[in-house]
Amino acid sequence: MYIGVIICAMLIDTHCHLDFERFDEDRDAIVARAAEAGITRIIVPALQLENCTAVLRLTEQYEGVYAAVGIHPNSSAAWEDGWINQIRAFAQHEKVVAIGEIGLDYHWDESPKTVQHRALRMQLDLAAELDLPVILHNRESSADIVELLQQSPARKGVMHSFSASWQTAVSVLEMGFYLGFTGPVTFKKADELRAIVARVPADRLLLETDAPFLTPHPYRGKRNEPAYVAYIADRVAAVRGVTVAELATQTTANAERLFGIG
Ligand SMILES: [Zn+2]
Repeated sequence: MYIGVIICAMLIDTHCHLDFERFDEDRDAIVARAAEAGITRIIVPALQLENCTAVLRLTEQYEGVYAAVGIHPNSSAAWEDGWINQIRAFAQHEKVVAIGEIGLDYHWDESPKTVQHRALRMQLDLAAELDLPVILHNRESSADIVELLQQSPARKGVMHSFSASWQTAVSVLEMGFYLGFTGPVTFKKADELRAIVARVPADRLLLETDAPFLTPHPYRGKRNEPAYVAYIADRVAAVRGVTVAELATQTTANAERLFGIG
């Protein structure tokens, strides 16, 4: 496969579901292709207790793979407070760099809002207790997630695959969080999102694929993979009027600082 974007500096894919079945056939090749494209480090967030073990196993298998552990809002319907102890135990693993992915999702509405709120609150408290950053999922739930963050002691983390308004961006940035951008910044009709990407402070910007989802142009519709973070970098650099090398240096430093993997 030819990656048409030449990257002079290293990039980090700060959000990839590398444990998914869709990568079972060719996971080694995918990690190798990413490394060839300059993406030597990948952060893999868990979604529920069941895949925490699989995610941790990947970190032992691949040197450049790191993990986040936590319960996704769409997997929180059966939330029990005791789960927090299991997440705390998983978080002791030396390659766990964050609690995630956690948050709110009112689009799919898989779990009652009150349950989503409780799961998020408890996991934010855990992140603060362990001094770990959080990886936040927010879908059509901006007002509530901002309010819950304001009430929580957690002040380190990223709102991943940012797709909300500039007003939400400002609220989250003011609390000290980073914003992560994915494939949609390359989509034809994403001018509003690109206007936000252009305004984010350079030291709060992260790049991620969310693979296998959200595949950037020119592979939209196909399976996404970490190597494609190069296409996101290319577009974000153009939007911000910097070189890809400058953007790569900046976003890699940001990810190293936030996740402590420098
Ligand atoms: Zn994700």
